Amino acid sequence: MAPCSPDLVARRPWELAPGRLRALGVRGVLLDLDNTLIPYGYEGPVPEEVAGWLAELRRAGIAAALVTNAHPRRSLRWGAKLGLPALPFAAKPLPFAIHWAARRLGVPRPGLLLVGDQVFTDLLGGRLAGVRTALVEPLSPRELPHTGWLRRLERRCRDRYNGSGSAIGRTEEKR
Ligand SMILES: [Mg+2]
Repeated sequence: MAPCSPDLVARRPWELAPGRLRALGVRGVLLDLDNTLIPYGYEGPVPEEVAGWLAELRRAGIAAALVTNAHPRRSLRWGAKLGLPALPFAAKPLPFAIHWAARRLGVPRPGLLLVGDQVFTDLLGGRLAGVRTALVEPLSPRELPHTGWLRRLERRCRDRYNGSGSAIGRTEEKR
C-alpha cells in the first residue's frame, strides 16, 4: 500500500468508535496531538469530546499513547493532562517514537493504529514503523510554518486516495 494511503479515514478521531476498532483488531492507538486531538497551539482544558473518547477507549480495553512532534515541554504537559504516556519529542516520520510506544503499551505493531492529520508525518511515520494508520481532517487551519508547503504536496495524496480509504465512524459516512 502506498505510504499516503491510510487504512482508515474519519473526520475526527472521536468518530473512531472503540467497538469498531476492536473488531478490526486494534488494541492500541497512537495519537497525534496538534490538529488531531486539539487545535494547533491550544492550551485550554481537555475538550469534552476528547476526554469522553479516551474514557471509551479505556473501557474497551484499547491502550493509548501520545506521539506528537510538538515542543518537548508541550508534549509532556499534554501527555500528563490527557493521562497518556508521551515522549518529549517524536520526530515523526522517524519510527523510533512509534516503536517506543508499542513497547510501552505492550501491543504488537499489527494491533496498533496511528491517528493523525498529516500525510508526511503521521501516515508516513506509521507506514515506516509498521503500524496501521487513520487519517483525520485537521481541526484548525493554523499550523507550523513549514507545514504549509507539505500540505500542498499532501493535497495530491489526498486526491488520490479519496474514495479508496475505508471510512469508519459512528455515522459510517464515506467522505
Ligand atoms: Mg498534527
